[in-house]
Amino acid sequence: MNEYDSEILRGLLIKSGFVPVESEESANIVLFNGCSVREHAERRVIGRAGMLRKRKEKDERLKIIGVIGCMAQAHKEKLFGEMPYLDLICGPQHIYKIPEYLSEILAGRGPIVAVDEDKRPADRENHLLRDENIKIKAYITIMEGCNNFCSYCVVPYVRGRETSRPPEMILKEADDLVKRGIREITLLGQNVNSYAKDFNNGYTFSNLLKEVDAISDLKRLKFVTSHPKDADEQMFKAMFKLPTVCEFLHLPIQSGSDEILKSMNRKYTRDDYLRKIDIARRYMPEGAISTDIIVGYPNESDDDFKETLNVLKQVKYDTAYVFKYSPRPHTAASKMEDNVPQKVKEERNQILLNLQRDISRKNNEKYLNKKLGVLVEGFSDKCDKLLVGKTRTGKTVVFEGPQVLIGKIVEVRVHGTNASTLLGNWKKI
Ligand code: SF4
Repeated sequence: MNEYDSEILRGLLIKSGFVPVESEESANIVLFNGCSVREHAERRVIGRAGMLRKRKEKDERLKIIGVIGCMAQAHKEKLFGEMPYLDLICGPQHIYKIPEYLSEILAGRGPIVAVDEDKRPADRENHLLRDENIKIKAYITIMEGCNNFCSYCVVPYVRGRETSRPPEMILKEADDLVKRGIREITLLGQNVNSYAKDFNNGYTFSNLLKEVDAISDLKRLKFVTSHPKDADEQMFKAMFKLPTVCEFLHLPIQSGSDEILKSMNRKYTRDDYLRKIDIARRYMPEGAISTDIIVGYPNESDDDFKETLNVLKQVKYDTAYVFKYSPRPHTAASKMEDNVPQKVKEERNQILLNLQRDISRKNNEKYLNKKLGVLVEGFSDKCDKLLVGKTRTGKTVVFEGPQVLIGKIVEVRVHGTNASTLLGNWKKI
């Protein structure tokens, strides 16, 4: 979501005459588009902005430091308490006004705080200016906000209630991207299964998948995130039938304990969740499944944690994103005592990561000696002789090959695996 907002903002700023620069050191204006879902990410923004503040004190070319996005929305004016040197605090609903705000601040009429509830303008996507370096895959936001109010989550407070974008707007954006050469599109929403419910006209997320899938020359279609209470057979069927829709499902469980799930207000039980996984596997036996897990949620006992471990062992996820609980502003859970000691959170985090690493390693071994279609994304950060790409199931594949393969889907034979990567051979095929 934030990356997408950054692209909108980039377009708006360039249209208003601001010029992007190559490095932070040469910028007059630095805006942090901060995520508020986890405390850790916020602390990093605060740390980075603090470093810049020192530069601003000495270097008069640096005029504006701002925090924008849902982090700004979550903390509002209170951010000034921790970062009194900020010139701009602006929530996601107001990003389209940022060029105006920056001009005001440059004219000496700052600082500015813009965080009240507001509807984003319907035409905001007209400002979208995609980074020209994005040539292979792109995100499209299909809806914003969330109505679920999971007890730990700040999203409904910073992104508002669910609002779907009209399908024709999404289809036009997807079509334009594909014409520009984009091979893979990921549809984004906090709860994609709720897409179009606010239209009340019977149109569903599966209908949207079908229409995007029909765009000629689109090679791969992915989406995040599905909510386990809403993911239904209709969607799994659509995933199975539609050729571009990849065999990859992200289905966050958060905890394996029914008691904790109830306290989290997730509105499903462990068994409900496992039934959905069974259906998904029926339609996509070779597909990959990933999840999110929170450890150390208030009152999580050793037994609750064991339930989570059992789910991991049973589902054998391809990837699990594990987060240590931290209270988020405004949420129901933040009013509960954060009573799992940090040390226990760390231990549970490590136990889960170790278990998941073993499972991922074993899962990946099944690809040994198989030929896989890989969308080549570029050269590896670690070695510029190696190309990196992704399979339809989201597996990272590293192999030697020429630059000309970047942006193409090629067949690679897997000769080595570890928990996170498949090593392949392209030439010998
Ligand atoms: S479904 Fe729950 S966790 Fe996901 S965005 Fe909505 S409130 Fe947050």
